[in-house]
Amino acid sequence: MNIAVPLAARADNLIAACPSCGSGDLTGIYAQDDVPVSSCLLFDDADAALQVDRGDIRLSHCAGCGFIFNAAIRQGASEYSERYEETQGFSPTFSSFHTALATDLIERHDLRGREVLEIGCGKGEFLLLLSQLGENRCTGIDPSAHPHRIEGIEGAQRVRLIPEFFSPELAQQQFDAIVCKMTLEHIVPTLDFLRVVREGIVEGSRPLVFFQIPNALRILADAAYEDIYYEHCSYFTAGSLVRLFEKAGFAPLRVLHQYDDQYLTIEATVGDAPPLDMADDRAEVAALAASLAGRVAAKQADWAARIADAAAAGRKIAIWGSGSKAVSFLAALPDPSQIGAVIDINPNRQGHAMPGTGHAIVGPDDLAAIRPDLVIVMNAVYRDEIARDLAGLGIGAEIAAL
Ligand SMILES: [Zn+2]
Repeated sequence: MNIAVPLAARADNLIAACPSCGSGDLTGIYAQDDVPVSSCLLFDDADAALQVDRGDIRLSHCAGCGFIFNAAIRQGASEYSERYEETQGFSPTFSSFHTALATDLIERHDLRGREVLEIGCGKGEFLLLLSQLGENRCTGIDPSAHPHRIEGIEGAQRVRLIPEFFSPELAQQQFDAIVCKMTLEHIVPTLDFLRVVREGIVEGSRPLVFFQIPNALRILADAAYEDIYYEHCSYFTAGSLVRLFEKAGFAPLRVLHQYDDQYLTIEATVGDAPPLDMADDRAEVAALAASLAGRVAAKQADWAARIADAAAAGRKIAIWGSGSKAVSFLAALPDPSQIGAVIDINPNRQGHAMPGTGHAIVGPDDLAAIRPDLVIVMNAVYRDEIARDLAGLGIGAEIAAL
């Protein structure tokens, strides 16, 4: 393994072969020690949140296929359970994107009255949409699913949620569509996983296979270190994703960047399909990967200085968003106590504590008492929505976004 940046000696037992293509031509590109291994878990209080298990990040870049992964990942270290609260469904911005995505898939692939499987369905929101908008019969598998949460909602009678980890035995029937959103980035053995999905497809059927993951090209280009965290061990660009799908026996149909370039989606099937017309992105990815650590360090130093200046001036600082990006952002600050409040609109997260720093998570209504002067938005795609919420609360804080 080649090492381009100094890596601490503690992260031994690094994965030495690319999980997507098997190549050993790997270069270490980014290292971070002692980050919380679970950033979406709900902790009842600061003590519990401070005691979250920690692990190391050692991103490796594969010259063979362009895939980037955490070579120091310990499989099973992150907890995915009923305490895992990741939904963005409380955001109107996200909900309208989600509805448009479901509508588009239904229209273009004639998904009406069909059988749909979602691997890693979270709380089942997307399956509910596919049921409501296309009367599809849906099966969702996810260890953090809460079947009772959807009871009584329109369309829920056609949605079956199985709160377990995916295994082929749970999905032994013919599906017209197999959906897997924001899940592959959590999986260490990427090729093995795709092969299991491929082998589960009933002989002779040609289902739509739709995957959505974070777009690593944006993370690399923007040095978006808030999007690099322990639970995400696998980082794909369009090129490495298509190569993985082909190697696993799928026929890719289309690859897109969506949601302000934050998401990468692929539509595929099995059997013959015309080859995708796309450029080889490996040289671009290699160049961005090589400069990532330096650009992240500069960006982190900028935020640390900006926050320290605001705190020194007596300004109250809040961050908006308590999910994984916030955990990453706080973990990189030299003095996270300068952040006075962490806000989230998801009521299931409010009243809990941030993994790693113990900050209490509050709701927007609590801001009337806190009255922050500076609100740092953890995802710029929600900036307008948050600005409206703040204006509605009568809070004239400066708004900055990552
Ligand atoms: Zn590879």
